Order: sequence, then C-alpha cells, then structure tokens
Amino acid sequence: MDEWKLPWNGGCRCGQTRLQVSAPPLLTSVCHCIGCQRMTASAFSLSLSIPSEGFAVTAGEPVIGGLHGATRHYFCPHCMSWMFTRPEGMDQFVNVRSSMLDEYGWFVPFVEFWTQEGLPWAKTPAMYCYETQPEFVAFGKLIEEFSRYGPRPT
Ligand SMILES: [Zn+2]
Ligand SMILES: [Zn+2]
Repeated sequence: MDEWKLPWNGGCRCGQTRLQVSAPPLLTSVCHCIGCQRMTASAFSLSLSIPSEGFAVTAGEPVIGGLHGATRHYFCPHCMSWMFTRPEGMDQFVNVRSSMLDEYGWFVPFVEFWTQEGLPWAKTPAMYCYETQPEFVAFGKLIEEFSRYGPRPT
C-alpha cells in the first residue's frame, strides 16, 4: 500500500513550470524567518523536504531568485512563483513549497523554524517549534519522528 499516494504533481501559478515528487517527504515544516516572509509576501513559507532523487522538474526551466547565494531559490521565470529551494551544503534533499502541489490540502507542518522572527499572531499546529534552527544533529530525530507521526495525504 502506498500511504503517500505518490507521485505528486504540481506547478507554479501560471502552469508553465511543472514538477513531480516521487519519494515521501522527510519532513514538513514552515519557516517564519524574515527572508521567507519577504519571498512569500506572507507570514511564513511552507516546505516539504523531498529526497533529491525523488524530485524532478517536468516542464519549464526554473530560474534562481532570492539572494542568489549558496542556498538556491528556484522560481518560475514567467509568473515568478517561488517553487523550491536547494539548501546550501545539503544536496540530498530539496525543499518544495507545499502550495505548488496540485493537491496540498493535507499539508500540516510537523516542525516550525525561526519563530523568533515570526509575526506574533502567526501560529501553526507544528509538533516541534524552534526559535531559530535546530542543531544539524536534531534533524535525524525529527526525520525519524516524522516518518512515524507526520501527516499523510488524505
Ligand atoms: Zn509560472
Ligand atoms: Zn525562512
């Protein structure tokens, strides 16, 4: 039984850039940092951390946006939707913006990051909450917990 109902297809606002997820997420999260607030024009960003081998761009050619730094933020070149991020030094996964999926109503953040920069009213039901980012070693435990208790597509 595929409890994840993979693969998931998704795309940007205009539909010219499309993507596909074929591996279960390692984690679902939100980030309240000011950078994410600016790039989303909203209160926080939504992420599905997908193993790199389970992620593919299936149409269009995303371009780099954001800070153009070591962490690469990818956008649709036409509608400029922020679609996914390849974080610095972590090539093993891609953070896909959850609202790019065709069906993402099941998405619930398991972890939230950077709450110290968040808007005071911006609350989520995440089970784990960090004022900034946890130590790198903490991610192993979060990923293990998520594999047992994390949200699944309905
Ligand atoms: Zn687009
Ligand atoms: Zn952020």
